[in-house]
Amino acid sequence: MFEILLLFIATGSIASFARGRGASPKLWGATAAVGYLLMAWLIAPLTMRALHINEPVVPMLAALAWIAGIALYVRFGIGAGEPAPDSQWTCADCNYMNGRHAIICEACQKPWSDTVRLETP
Ligand SMILES: [Zn+2]
Repeated sequence: MFEILLLFIATGSIASFARGRGASPKLWGATAAVGYLLMAWLIAPLTMRALHINEPVVPMLAALAWIAGIALYVRFGIGAGEPAPDSQWTCADCNYMNGRHAIICEACQKPWSDTVRLETP
């Protein structure tokens, strides 16, 4: 039960990061969740059987590593070359408060760089 809750929270965070980076939240949320399940229930157990490893904690760790990798990539990899905010910022169009990770407004998709241009003409 705890594992499902954790997966739910992690997937939600990844979807939110993806939205803020201008990527598809559905695609990245699904990639994280499906990859987690495949890793925990299929890939890691099969690999362990092939290598004759019998550590019940390994599939869980492999699945967590997958989630962490996706989260890091979506947070820092996507849009890495784009100009990025160094603090929270308020959207000039809709006044939504966006987190540091967001390079576009999470509410209306307006790019952060447009907001900056408006403030410093
Ligand atoms: Zn906005």
